Formats: sequence, structure tokens, C-alpha cells
Amino acid sequence: MIDFSLPADLEAERDRIRRFVIDKIVPYERDPRLTAHGPNDELRQELVELARAEKLLTIQAPVELGGRGLGHVEQAVLYEAAGWSTLGPVAMNCAAPDEGNMFLLSKVANPDQIDRYLMPVITGQQRSVFAMTEPDGAGSDPDQLATTATFDGTNFTINGRKWLITGADGAKTWIIMARLAANPHLPEGPTLFLADGDAAPAGGIVIERTMNTMDRNYVGGHGVVRFENLTLPRESVLGETGQALRYAQLRLAPARLTHCMRWLGAAERAQSIAVEHARTRTAFGKTIGEHEGVSFMLADNEIALHQCRLTIWHACWLMDQGHKARHESSMAKSFVSEELFKVADRCVQVLGGIGISDETVVEMIFRDMRAFRLYDGPTEVHKWAIGRKVLRK
Ligand SMILES: Cc1cc2nc3c(=O)[nH]c(=O)nc-3n(C[C@H](O)[C@H](O)[C@H](O)COP(=O)(O)OP(=O)(O)OC[C@H]3O[C@@H](n4cnc5c(N)ncnc54)[C@H](O)[C@@H]3O)c2cc1C
Repeated sequence: MIDFSLPADLEAERDRIRRFVIDKIVPYERDPRLTAHGPNDELRQELVELARAEKLLTIQAPVELGGRGLGHVEQAVLYEAAGWSTLGPVAMNCAAPDEGNMFLLSKVANPDQIDRYLMPVITGQQRSVFAMTEPDGAGSDPDQLATTATFDGTNFTINGRKWLITGADGAKTWIIMARLAANPHLPEGPTLFLADGDAAPAGGIVIERTMNTMDRNYVGGHGVVRFENLTLPRESVLGETGQALRYAQLRLAPARLTHCMRWLGAAERAQSIAVEHARTRTAFGKTIGEHEGVSFMLADNEIALHQCRLTIWHACWLMDQGHKARHESSMAKSFVSEELFKVADRCVQVLGGIGISDETVVEMIFRDMRAFRLYDGPTEVHKWAIGRKVLRK
């Protein structure tokens, strides 16, 4: 049986979140604390308190850690509503990279690590980073991981350089991927380490700079980071040594879907602005919406939004049934990121010249969304993996 209906309480919560974002969060989109490097920490904290007051903070966290333990389909419905503003997920503490990091830590961290590194992120007190990508090493191909860790039986020493690390500046919970060298104590290979951004010894974690990028929706922007003899105790290993790539996959499948959910909400917002413009702006004796060239663009958007939602819901439904849905989430990520970017582009086109100005939020959505086709696997890498699976069949 295929049942597309949503429970009434889920629909009501979706509508409440959409209302919250429109009434309380959208006004912050012109706040100067939304900088070229994303919302700053002061703005983030203010937004987080608004969500906390509405009992909408970190609702996705497991029940035993204070959340509602949302299923994947429930997340899809509620994150889409939150995504109406790119600041919505920031307020509700379900934005990247914290959302994916919280998911990973809730699955792999031990009780001490949960207390020290996860709970302060769940309660909105501190932010987290996932540091994998490197200028001369790991990127699309994580096997190229060049950051090294050595172990002397007591401590690890980490050295290497990373970039594109979202939220690096000001984050306290650090998840660092490094290659553990052969040693007589522990299995070697790519390993995840937890570090405290504040407590790291001077020089251990060096934020070289925050990169200037075309997006500005992630708190703290994207940093270039150097690990310089970062010394960590044995208990800083997250999970088991040598298992980092497996844990990264565990994080990625749901995390790439939650990107799809949030961006779907943002694309819907852009479409609503384009529709309003098409209804009211006139050219050649009628509204521009009455010109087929424009109505077809809006129709293409409507079709794409619908297809994206169905694709997301299907992958989420599979995961709710206990499937890993790696193939489906990979198809969803590549399809949704490409389609939604076309939606945003057509919205810019419908708006005419003002489409590229900040007279509306469409321009910001267009720029912010561009990176979605790259992170959590560029489209080509997903297609490459999908193609290999197709050929194996
Ligand atoms: C906004 C943003 C935020 C990010 N945040 C983080 C973060 O918090 N932490 C982190 O560790 N990383 C982060 N990243 C990095 C992101 O994960 C990488 O950009 C991504 O994995 C691609 O790696 P790369 O940039 O090194 O591209 P490369 O690996 O150099 O690839 C470049 C291009 O080559 C092509 N390509 C590569 N492999 C294949 C293939 N097999 N088949 C066909 N084409 C291929 C693709 O078109 C790809 O875009 C972020 C990136 C962005 C843009």
C-alpha cells in the first residue's frame, strides 16, 4: 500500500514552524550580523533563544538526549518548513554541519563524549565542525586523506591542513579526520578524533583564515585550518580507530537528505516570490505571468518542487523502514541539488533585473544554494557511484 497522507499533528507542527519562521526569523534576514561569513555567533544565539522559547530547538535529537527523536519522513516535512528562511534551521539548531555532527555523535560517541561534546551542541550552547577536506588531500576522494596522527601509547599527535571547514571559527566541538600511522597499540588508518576548540593547547588548532565564498548561510563561514602538533589523549578517539570512512558514510546518508529538505523550503520561498511578481508585473499589455514563456518557467518549478519532495520522502521512508538507502539518498542528493538550483535560477529570471539584486531574498537563495551541488558529494561523484552500481546490476 502506498499512503502519502501525513498525520494531522505533523501537518499542524509543519504549519506552526512555517509561521514561526515567517513571523520571527525572516525579519533577521537584513540584520547586519548576517555577515559575508554567515550569521555571527551573537545573531545565532539570539535566533536559538527564539526557537527555544517556542520549544522548537533541536527537535530532531534522540528522545533520551532531550529531543523528539523524529523519524526521517517527519524531519523531511518539518525541515522543509524551517528552510523557508536559511536562518530557520540556524534558529532551530538543525543546520549543517551541527545537524549531521549531532547525528553522528549520537550514534558513535561514548557516554563521556556525549556529555562533553554532544550535549552542549544539542542545547545550542556551542557549535561543532567536521574537518575532513584538505587542499592537497581528501576531497571527493577521502582515500587521499593526508592529515596524520601518530600514537605513542598515551597521546595522539595530529598534523595537517584542512579547508572549507564550515563553522571553524568559534566552534568548540571538533570532529577531525586524520590517518593514524602504524603503531603497536591500535589499528591504523583513517580515524575520527574529538577535540575541544577551546581547550586545544596553544598552536594545536590554528584557524589560518575564513574563506571568502559566494554563500553566507552557514554560521562562521568556511575556514582554512592547520593542526600543528595537536596533542590529544587516548579517549579522544570517536568510535574505533581505522573506521573514519565508515562513520563518515553513516553521517552522510541522512545529512545529504537533510540538505535536500532545507533547500526545498528555500526554493519554495523563491518560487512564491516569483509567482507574486508574475501576477503583478506587466509587460506588453498583460501581466508577465500571462506570457507563456514565464508561466512555463513557473510550471517547470512547480513540477521540480513536487518531484524533489517525492524523491526526498521516498528515501526517508526507506530509512524509516530500517534500510540504509545509500543508493536512493545519493540519487536524491544529486537530483534535488541540480533541480532546485534550476528552480532558483528560473526565479531570478522571472524577476527580471531585480532578480540579481537584494530587493528580494531570491538572489541570496540562488547564491547560497549553489554550493549544495558540491558539498556532501558533488553531483558528478554521486552519478559516478550510481553509474557503477547500475553497471554491476
Ligand atoms: C559550502 C561548502 C561547505 C563545506 N563544508 C565542509 C566541512 O564542513 N567539512 C569538510 O570536511 N568539507 C567541507 N566541504 C568540502 C566538500 O566536502 C568538498 O568540496 C567536496 O567533497 C568536494 O571535494 P573538493 O572540493 O576537494 O573537490 P575535488 O575532489 O577537487 O573535485 C572537483 C570536481 O571534480 C569532479 N570529480 C571529482 N571526482 C569525480 C568522479 N569520480 N567522477 C566525476 N567527476 C569527479 C567533480 O565535478 C568535483 O566537483 C564544504 C564544501 C563547500 C562548498
